Amino acid sequence: MNDNLKFDKQHIWHPYTAIADELPIFQVTHAKGVYLYLSNGKRLIDGMASWWSVIHGYNHPYLNQAISKQLENMAHVMFGGLTHQPAIDLAQTLLAITDKRLDKIFFADSGSVAVEVAMKMALQYFFAQGKQQKQQFLTVRSGYHGDTFGAMSVCDPVTGMHHLFQGVLAPQLFVPAPYSITEDHTDHADIDALEMTLKTQHHTIAAVIIEPIVQGAGGMRIYRAEYLQAVRRLCNQYEVVLIFDEIATGFGRTGKLFAYQHAQVVPDILCLGKALTGGYMTLAATLTTELISSRISACGALMHGPTFMANPLACAVANASIQLLLASDWEQKVLAIEQQLQQQLMRCDHLSSVREVRVIGAIGVVEMYQAVDMQRMPEYFVEQNVWVRPFGKLVYIMPPYIISKEQLEILINAMYKVLAQYGDSALNE
Ligand SMILES: *Cc1c(COP(=O)(O)O)cnc(C)c1O
Repeated sequence: MNDNLKFDKQHIWHPYTAIADELPIFQVTHAKGVYLYLSNGKRLIDGMASWWSVIHGYNHPYLNQAISKQLENMAHVMFGGLTHQPAIDLAQTLLAITDKRLDKIFFADSGSVAVEVAMKMALQYFFAQGKQQKQQFLTVRSGYHGDTFGAMSVCDPVTGMHHLFQGVLAPQLFVPAPYSITEDHTDHADIDALEMTLKTQHHTIAAVIIEPIVQGAGGMRIYRAEYLQAVRRLCNQYEVVLIFDEIATGFGRTGKLFAYQHAQVVPDILCLGKALTGGYMTLAATLTTELISSRISACGALMHGPTFMANPLACAVANASIQLLLASDWEQKVLAIEQQLQQQLMRCDHLSSVREVRVIGAIGVVEMYQAVDMQRMPEYFVEQNVWVRPFGKLVYIMPPYIISKEQLEILINAMYKVLAQYGDSALNE
C-alpha cells in the first residue's frame, strides 16, 4: 500500500466504515464515460453510477460546460433574501416535469436533508391546523431515507441504525414491507397491515413516507404498483400526508421518469436528489402542493434554510443534466438495459449461492443466501475490471445509462464469474 492510501486509512472516514479497518480501498485518478481510472493503472467499468447519480457518465462535455459557464458568473451566493437564474430555471423545469399538483419547491443540499424538510412540511401542515397530535410517521420495513436523525428514524429498524441510536431516534410506526414482485402471493396482507395501522392510529400520524416501486439501500426490493395505489387511497381516506422519496428512483432509473408514474398516483410531497445533477454536485429538492404550502404559510415560515441552499453551480449542472436526459432517447436506453439484464443477469439465478435475481429498468439485483465478504469481494471485481460494490447479501448494479451493450455484457459476465467463483469458495470453506 502506498503512502497516500496509508494516510487515507489512518485519518479519513469512508461511508459506514471504521477508521483503519482492513477493507480494501482504491484511488481513482480520473473518470470518463462509464470508466473509472485507478492509480494502479486499471480501468474499471462502473456498475454503480456512483450510487445512482451519474446517469450520463463521468466527465461529460455538456455538463462540464454548464458548470464552467456558471462559474464565470458566480459559484455561490446565499439564498436568504437573494435569488438567481439557475435556481429559477431548475424550479421551473422540476415543476414542469413532475405532476402539475406539485407546485412549490425547496432546494436542499443533500437527499437526507430533503427528507428532513419533507418531514417538517408534513408536521407544520398539521400544526398549522391545530393538529399537534399528528406527529408520527408511518413507513414500511426495508426502507432507506438517509442518515440524519429524522431520516434515520424512518429507515428499516433492523438494517438501519436503530439499534445503535435506540432511545434517541423518534419512535415511528412500521408495517411489513410490501410484497416483492418476485413473491407469489394471492392475498393482500401487506396492504391490510397498512390499512389496519392507519385505521387505528391515523390521529397520531402526520405522514406516510415510502420509496415508490423500488426500495433502494434498505434491501433493493421491487414491489407492485397496486401497493402504491393503496397507499395513496388510504392516505386520502385517513387524512395523512403522503411523501414519496424518489431520491434513488428519479430521473428514469426504473424505466419511468419518476417511479410513481408506474402507479399513476401523485404524492403530496416528493423528494428528489442523487441523479438530479447527473452526479456532479450535491443537490436535492422537496416539492409539494399548493394546499400544503398555503396551510404552512398561513401560520408562518417553513423552518429550514441550509447555507448552500440552491447552490448556483449545482442548479446550473442540474439544469444541463435534465436537458441532456430529456433530449436523449433515455426511455429506449433504459428499456434496452432492462432487457439485457433480464436476459444475461438472470443466468446468476442458477448459481448455488444465489437466492434470487431481480430487475427493473436500469437496476439489476442479485440477492445471495449469505452476506458477501467485503474483505475480498471488491478486489475480485476490480480484478475483473469492473466496479461493483455489494452490501450485505446484495450484489447489484445500476450503471450510467450511456453504457453500451458490450460494456454491460462485460459487467454482467464479471458479476457472474465473481459470484460463481465466490459461491464455490464460500461453500468450500
Ligand atoms: C441516498 C438516499 C437518501 C439520502 O440521500 P443523501 O444525499 O445521501 O443524503 C435518501 N433516500 C433515498 C431513497 C436514497 O437512496
